[in-house]
Amino acid sequence: CGLIGIIGRAPVTPLLVEALKRLEYRGYDSAGVATLINGHIERRRAEGKLFNLETKLAAEPLAGAIGIGHTRWATHGKPSERNAHPIVTGRVAVVHNGIIENFQQLKDELLAEGRTFDSDTDTEVVAQLLTVYLERQLSPEEAMGKAMQRLRGAFALVALFSGRHDILLGARRGSSLAVGHGDMAMYLGTDALALAPFTRRVTYLEDDDWVVLNAQEARIFQGHSEVRRAIRESGITG
Ligand code: GLU
Repeated sequence: CGLIGIIGRAPVTPLLVEALKRLEYRGYDSAGVATLINGHIERRRAEGKLFNLETKLAAEPLAGAIGIGHTRWATHGKPSERNAHPIVTGRVAVVHNGIIENFQQLKDELLAEGRTFDSDTDTEVVAQLLTVYLERQLSPEEAMGKAMQRLRGAFALVALFSGRHDILLGARRGSSLAVGHGDMAMYLGTDALALAPFTRRVTYLEDDDWVVLNAQEARIFQGHSEVRRAIRESGITG
């Protein structure tokens, strides 16, 4: 029900958890984080309160300077660790708020291609679709653009890619997603409140926007065209 993504230079896991705490008010049944470590996607997930995730992270810390986090309000697939986000394939980790309306059709197609699913979520079709495109040698940016054309419904998405410490991708349709502009890092979050611990400089994305972050800047697109969106001062202090 809330999400966060950070690309910077410092360890991100404590920051991801901090942002998820700001999103607690929205309600959730499970939570998780994923980062890139030496190019590989690593994740921790837990059912129930954020405290459970924090306990897990204390026992098994997660390094990494790029990461994503999620609080889930289950719509497809029961609340469980198996269905908690980030949803991961070898190549991509995805957090999603909203509902992919045509997930069954996409899932049937992907199953017919021999894909296997590790969760009962609608979200997993996004991760699997991106993976198919990456395996066809598309770039992460091309894969995201193409996936958006296939997805129906409401979504805010943030994705990180194995071997790519340099980019974090986001997309939205219907659900809210904002870019946070930091000094040494860039952020994606559900709202200004999630970003408040890090920055007040926020860009609200519009429907069908997708965005490529590196640690310095955000580039926003509609389809294949780059678009400009204003940076605002959020007024919320961390
Ligand atoms: N539909 C997704 C799921 O059930 C995302 C739910 C949410 O917005 O937290 O996993």
